[in-house]
Amino acid sequence: MRERLAIFPGSFDPLTNGHVDIVRRGLALFDKVQVALAINESKRPIFAFDERRALIDEMFAGEDRVSVGGLDGLLVEYARQAGAVAILRGLRGPSDFDYELKMVHMNHHLAPGIETVFLASRTEQSFVSSSLVKEVARLGGDVSSHLPPHIHTALVAKLQG
Ligand code: ADP
Repeated sequence: MRERLAIFPGSFDPLTNGHVDIVRRGLALFDKVQVALAINESKRPIFAFDERRALIDEMFAGEDRVSVGGLDGLLVEYARQAGAVAILRGLRGPSDFDYELKMVHMNHHLAPGIETVFLASRTEQSFVSSSLVKEVARLGGDVSSHLPPHIHTALVAKLQG
């Protein structure tokens, strides 16, 4: 049978434990998960594309069902070309939902064959976002419980550099 691939798109600046949780739970539903890392730097990421990619690669080095790709352009086109059956997204709360619902309708219009599957964040991750983690770390707060250890180290080094 054909392998069922899900695309998990985002900025991942940087990857948090919330993201890792969605990937792992996605692997219980799909044969493979491909992280589609946004190349577009208009959000002025703190980590360059190659750095974000290396951090994700290291996180999933032992898991051959997870891969990473660069996303530049229409997500549904990326998903179609990759042969994906679904787009995977995490939902933390109402503001995620408002945005995601619009995207679902637009993406369904553009590519009716590709479903979007939402996983609600774990309670303990529901307040974790890359931007909040960066902000708190910048102010000297401890964010180590929200990041994989190697990413926490990289963030601290980045903020010091
Ligand atoms: P984007 O720029 O698309 O918002 P993010 O890297 O912030 O990119 O998020 C990528 C995906 O991961 C989104 O679906 C987002 O809802 C989800 N996500 C982010 N943080 C968490 C978390 N703490 N728990 C669950 N899902 C999350």
